[in-house]
Amino acid sequence: MESIRFDGHVVIGGGAVGAATAHALTARGERVLLVEQHGRGHHEGSSHGATRIFRQGYTDPEYVALTSRALALWDALETASGTTLLDRTGAVDHGRPEVVDAIAAALSDADIPHETLTTDQASARWPGIAFEGHVLTHASAGRIRSAEAIEVFLTLADGSGLADLRFDTPVTAIEDHGDDVTVSFGDGTAVRTRSVVAAVGSWAPTLVGAVLAGRGVRLPAVRVTQEQPAHFPSHLPDQAWPSFVHWADGDDVYGLLTPGEGVKVGFHGTGPVVDPDARDKRPVAAEAERLQAYVARYVPGVDATRPTFISCLYDTTPDEDFVIDRRGPITVATGFSGHGFKFAPLLGELVADLATGGAPHPRFAL
Ligand SMILES: Cc1cc2nc3c(=O)[nH]c(=O)nc-3n(C[C@H](O)[C@H](O)[C@H](O)COP(=O)(O)OP(=O)(O)OC[C@H]3O[C@@H](n4cnc5c(N)ncnc54)[C@H](O)[C@@H]3O)c2cc1C
Repeated sequence: MESIRFDGHVVIGGGAVGAATAHALTARGERVLLVEQHGRGHHEGSSHGATRIFRQGYTDPEYVALTSRALALWDALETASGTTLLDRTGAVDHGRPEVVDAIAAALSDADIPHETLTTDQASARWPGIAFEGHVLTHASAGRIRSAEAIEVFLTLADGSGLADLRFDTPVTAIEDHGDDVTVSFGDGTAVRTRSVVAAVGSWAPTLVGAVLAGRGVRLPAVRVTQEQPAHFPSHLPDQAWPSFVHWADGDDVYGLLTPGEGVKVGFHGTGPVVDPDARDKRPVAAEAERLQAYVARYVPGVDATRPTFISCLYDTTPDEDFVIDRRGPITVATGFSGHGFKFAPLLGELVADLATGGAPHPRFAL
């Protein structure tokens, strides 16, 4: 089949990163063809659901700095779209003192206001959570309206007049010609372009692993797992819930309220390795019980006996660092390791920088 030449960027993937990239590129006056294998708002990848945590609490100063850049871009996106996308509920970290103290130190170094509390003070302020170890809170954190955010990225891209958004359109092959590539679609059509962006999360190893290897670079091992957080009905009013992370002995735990759905609680990256195209989405029974036992003990503000499980994918690199880099006409963005959404508008900018000839962020380069 003859390919049509496309003088713009083919962005593969309509999750948080692909949608943010389409917005960032069109905002720079670039043409975009975004192709997503599933329908708009689908639940097959890493980005679905109404809420994600935004927090600045990392132990690593580089990530703390990136959260500040992301926060400014979330503000700008809210202004540009006239939509609230970040509910500033604040966030609380508790648990292992060495981790909580290291986060406090990193926030101090970055001049990000925060407060340490005793467990009694924290319980009085947030009765829905049972605290242990050291406790830290920062008010610039909160809850991203994630499904709305993706829609805002797509709608702004579409409204620019520079984007063609195609759903239910799988990319079946990428053929590397050196200065450009042919991107083939499931309907038998193809385009030839000087810039393709694979914002395909858990599918990156299969879609672009070989084509990058042909250019002498290897993607780091991306571990694709099926995660199973759950929403639990709250006994408390919505305002009672901050976003929270428990640096527990054993697996780390995150939680936040999804208004209308309950308090979402999950273990971070503990699920079984899966094929992203062949998974059953059914919770592993023993893990479900373990989560309910955790919630019964540490989240007394909810009904631990009535979980509604969610199924989603993590694409985790060995060091949980993202992968955002370019070789020739091929830009890849993957490995968001269960913590990418808070950076979405910044990730769009970083990927757009690369696709338009800029240098990679050194931390995320291949
Ligand atoms: C349960 C859960 C909770 C999380 N909580 C948080 C949180 O609180 N805070 C936070 O910051 N982060 C959180 N994350 C992480 C964050 O949501 C992800 O890092 C982010 O959504 C990754 O987006 P993505 O666009 O890279 O991946 P995806 O959303 O998976 O998007 C990739 C897209 O590419 C498409 N695609 C793949 N192959 C092809 C092809 N051949 N042709 C066309 N399309 C293709 C897929 O269908 C998919 O839509 C969480 C993740 C999960 C799963």
